[in-house]
Amino acid sequence: MTITGQISKPDKLLTAVVVAMAVATWLGVAFWAAGLSRAAATDALRDNTRNSLALQVQTLQGVLEKYRYLPTLLAHRGDVKALFPQRGETVDQKAAQAFMVDTAGLSGAVDIGLLKTDGTILGSLDTVLTAQDASTLQSLTVTPVQGSLGRTLLRYRGRPYYAFSYGVRENNVGAVQGVVAVVVDLEGLVEAWQLALDPIFLTAPDGTLMVGNDLADASFEGRLDAPIEVSRYLPQTGWTLHVRRSDKTAQAAWWRTFGAISLASLLLAVIASTFWWRRRTQQALKRQDKAQALRLERRVRDRTRDLADANHALRAAQDDLVETAKLAALGRMSASLAHEYNQPLAAIRAYADNALKLLERDQPADATEALERIGTVTNRMSGLSKALRSFARSPGQTIRAVRLTEVVEEVRLLIDPISQKTNVTVSWPGVSSDVTVAGGTVRLSQILVNLLSNAVSAAEERVTFTIECLDETVSLTVSDDGSGVSEEDAPYVFEPFFTTRPVGEGLGLGLSIAYNIAHDFGGTLRLLDNDPGATFQLVLKRHEANAVSNSDDGVLLDA
Ligand code: ADP
Repeated sequence: MTITGQISKPDKLLTAVVVAMAVATWLGVAFWAAGLSRAAATDALRDNTRNSLALQVQTLQGVLEKYRYLPTLLAHRGDVKALFPQRGETVDQKAAQAFMVDTAGLSGAVDIGLLKTDGTILGSLDTVLTAQDASTLQSLTVTPVQGSLGRTLLRYRGRPYYAFSYGVRENNVGAVQGVVAVVVDLEGLVEAWQLALDPIFLTAPDGTLMVGNDLADASFEGRLDAPIEVSRYLPQTGWTLHVRRSDKTAQAAWWRTFGAISLASLLLAVIASTFWWRRRTQQALKRQDKAQALRLERRVRDRTRDLADANHALRAAQDDLVETAKLAALGRMSASLAHEYNQPLAAIRAYADNALKLLERDQPADATEALERIGTVTNRMSGLSKALRSFARSPGQTIRAVRLTEVVEEVRLLIDPISQKTNVTVSWPGVSSDVTVAGGTVRLSQILVNLLSNAVSAAEERVTFTIECLDETVSLTVSDDGSGVSEEDAPYVFEPFFTTRPVGEGLGLGLSIAYNIAHDFGGTLRLLDNDPGATFQLVLKRHEANAVSNSDDGVLLDA
């Protein structure tokens, strides 16, 4: 059986809707979860970047704080003040040089500068400051002249430097005589930034890039995608320190979650569709099984009806055959029966004539005797006619208890005339009147008449009819001393229309009908013995006597 699992049009539509909904749900859930995952990863990245920024801020501030107070301290020192020339004096270059070398050596600053308020260098270590242009130098002095600490970012040979500057006043009050500048190298800081994996950079208040690592340059030039940015404004300098970070991890988290959900959805879809398909197939199988069962049921019903019809027809045909067989048996017996009637009739005639003559002679006693003989003969004739009538009746279909004695007596009335005619002696069994068997009177007498008439016509001199009563069954055997049934004929004697009699004398139905009737009674009929004559054995089941049916006139009615 093949299961095609064809999908109908409404089913297709439903399937499409379900699939579309499943895909929409999958996409919705996958995007939502991936978004959540990405946001969480971005938050974690931002936190991480913030920590990194805090560290960088601390480092930067540490470097700057170290030098912040140095110019102020120096400006308050008398020997430093003395280095600035009063009106008309010149700078004591030797003392100035010694001071600058000492201070730079002790503090670690890269350059120490002594400047006029207009930015002119009075003395320096001839490194960073001397390389600056006039406007940058001037900017070093602007804030100190106003009384505050100056802070300026410098560049020298491409490296970043930072200068703190403070004004020198006589007695620490009054007009600013000059400016002390301390220059710090920021390169160390930038080198440390180079080791970092993220872009780190400083911007000026106007937003322009001041210092940063190579990654910062790449990020600014668009070569590096680092959309996560945290920054901190540094109020002491006015700068802002930035740390940027790539969001690749967050993107990876997005794809990971999206992939995991998609995979799970796919797995779920595969499992669901497998279940669905299996259910469909099972349902289709069930439907097919049901349809097949219905078809089978219908076919069985049709066949049963046909069989019942055929059985009915067969039964009718069988009944016809039974009748035919009976008529055939009667036909065969008719000559003997006619003789059986003619003989008593002739006797009656003779007794009547005698009685008349005796009356005429006035011998009433003898006449009465003759008349009584007439009565006896007529009784015998009426018995025979009753037996014939009973034999010719239509048999019943039911199975009841039948008293054997009465059937045997009736059969004897029919068989005796034939046996007498053919000079065959039939030995009749003595049967107890309470022996009853399962069957029907007419049908049982038909079997026995058939077996006995066959035996009588086959016998040389003698037919033996015996009845043996067992616990459950009764065995009736009819044996004759005829030529028996040949070995070739033996398998066919119970076949309908098998006969060895000349045409017109036998129909070949007697034994086959007897066989069927015996089986209808729940008994058996067998050809037992073929030597010297034939022996047929009829075995019948015993039956309770309370179901015996008798007619009022003493003839057994078929039950
Ligand atoms: P029919 O008597 O019309 O031939 P039956 O069915 O009664 O039909 O018998 C079938 C055949 O069985 C007979 O023709 C005969 O050859 C054989 N047969 C029956 N009874 C005997 C018997 N007692 N001895 C020998 N042959 C018999």
